[in-house]
Amino acid sequence: MTRDDPEGRRLAPTYAPELRVVPAREITTALLDQDALRVVSRLQRQGYQAYLVGGCVRDLLLGRRPKDFDVATAAHPRQAKRLFANGRIIGRRFKLVHVAYGQHIVETATFRRAPSESKELGEDLLITEDNEFGTAAEDAVRRDFTINALFLDPTRREILDYVDGLADLERGCLRTIGDPYVRLAEDPVRILRAIKFATRLGFRIDETTWDAMCDLSEDLSRSAKPRVLEEILRLMRSGTALGAFRMLRACGALEVILPEVDRFLGRRDDPDPSAHDRADQFWRLLEALDAFVHAGQVPTTAVCISVLFLRVIEFEADPATRTLSAPMPEDLYEVTGEVLEPFALSARLPRRDCANARRLIAVQRRFTQVASKRFRPAVFLRSEEFPEALDLFRLRSMAWGQGWDVYEAWVQRYRAAEEAGETRVEAPEGERRPRRRRRRRGGSGRGEADGGAPAAPE
Ligand code: ATP
Ligand code: MG
Repeated sequence: MTRDDPEGRRLAPTYAPELRVVPAREITTALLDQDALRVVSRLQRQGYQAYLVGGCVRDLLLGRRPKDFDVATAAHPRQAKRLFANGRIIGRRFKLVHVAYGQHIVETATFRRAPSESKELGEDLLITEDNEFGTAAEDAVRRDFTINALFLDPTRREILDYVDGLADLERGCLRTIGDPYVRLAEDPVRILRAIKFATRLGFRIDETTWDAMCDLSEDLSRSAKPRVLEEILRLMRSGTALGAFRMLRACGALEVILPEVDRFLGRRDDPDPSAHDRADQFWRLLEALDAFVHAGQVPTTAVCISVLFLRVIEFEADPATRTLSAPMPEDLYEVTGEVLEPFALSARLPRRDCANARRLIAVQRRFTQVASKRFRPAVFLRSEEFPEALDLFRLRSMAWGQGWDVYEAWVQRYRAAEEAGETRVEAPEGERRPRRRRRRRGGSGRGEADGGAPAAPE
């Protein structure tokens, strides 16, 4: 907490909710999820207050298709579960009910309130416990941003607005509920969430909220590392990574969550034009990543991490720009380890993703390498990392505006190999990919039949 309060007033509750109920005319019925409506309707028929809540209401009001539909209700988990044969209680500390319709799950949460003990100014506000049931009004004000705290009663087709969220939604403004200095100190990950929503929705950030983001960005170092990493990855997959990372840098959060990248980008007021060029190369990669996402692709974790660190690693691998004091390792793979291993450790990046990212970067030169006894393009084509390595090569080609012909040629070759059943079976990210034995062709007795083929495919 950084603000003074001469009267020593207690900070919680920070917000006195006042309810506005407004007809939900703008909502397109086709965007509503029938399963979520079933859940709300059954709860209401049994006499419990129940609404759609959070991101889905925000998105429906903006005419966007919600990612998922969450239900909030006055029914306690066991009461809710009793109403649904297909319901299951999950969670240990804070229990939720998952109502399953086939593969589709409607998350149903009991109204919650912010932790009850009020804190004095100057006390540590970081929330460590968040598991008390509450009323609809309490549930609204414990949420992060006003636009995320609207309730929709689909039966009455009404919006319940306890936090002036409708006005902010109309004017395209992202604002914390209550005092931003308190709300961001409670959970600094909200700084990253603010950037995510502002860039995704094209909203401006309310001035006081932005000031608090800048003043409290250092607190991000206290947040749970996996949550921070998850938000970084979400920003990278958002299709607005460029804007998001510019904002991260502007408010000082980048320096806290990705210090190596921030250092690489240099001081903003550095008069040296080469510093500007370095930064520009990084921004161009993010721009390429956004184009990749807009083309319908979802970059894997290893590709995202590679994009973040590719330039840092290339600079550390160049004797002219190296900053690390250790002697220069023999090959690029070792340099990837020098940069990525400490990051993985501090950011709790799973070992497997770290190892994948290292490989993706180290094999980039293979795309333009001439075939030889030691490098056989068809072996590379069948390697586990090939599809992701190719994605990274594509991003590099987009960013630097060169190498497209090489990229296209590899794509053609990969397709041909796929049709011939010669590529690896791709497993969704997160699943362990079994190491497949390389297939021998036509009993030639060699691992590969293509020694001597040109590296850049014809
Ligand atoms: P998305 O479309 O990305 O899923 P969302 O608004 O649904 O956006 P979630 O992370 O799914 O975001 O969270 C659902 C809701 O839970 C939010 O809309 C918000 O009301 C509340 N919420 C989530 N994270 C926090 C947080 N850190 N602090 C307070 N409220 C939160
Ligand atoms: Mg959501």
